[in-house]
Amino acid sequence: MSDTIFGKIISGEIPSEFLYEDEHCIAINDINPQAPVHVLVIPKGEYISMVDFSSAASDIEIVDFNRAVGEVAKIKGLIETGYRTLANHGTNARQDVFHYHVHVVGGRDLGGMIKKES
Ligand code: AMP
Repeated sequence: MSDTIFGKIISGEIPSEFLYEDEHCIAINDINPQAPVHVLVIPKGEYISMVDFSSAASDIEIVDFNRAVGEVAKIKGLIETGYRTLANHGTNARQDVFHYHVHVVGGRDLGGMIKKES
């Protein structure tokens, strides 16, 4: 398992409440939520980014992961009001944890998609 905080959560080394779990992924609340709902969907496999995951993961891992993102949106009651999914990769996106994950954010008006340059 990856030596990141998420690898340690998946292995159980760091305790965390799973909002969702299947054979290939988990979902947890973000420790520093940016909105009333801020969930991280994390594949159990060791992938760094979307590019790594989409090229190296098996078809079933990719299918289960996408289903998990949808399930989280449903479980958290976001379908009617809307939500945003995003994944950070690398320096420009300020990725902090180098174990692939998708943020599912909602529960309020999220504003424009990307902060404009001032
Ligand atoms: P990213 O910049 O996309 O890599 O985001 C990493 C996210 O992980 C941030 O939103 C953090 O608040 C979140 N995070 C870091 N440590 C934990 C943790 N132990 N449990 C839940 N979320 C965490």
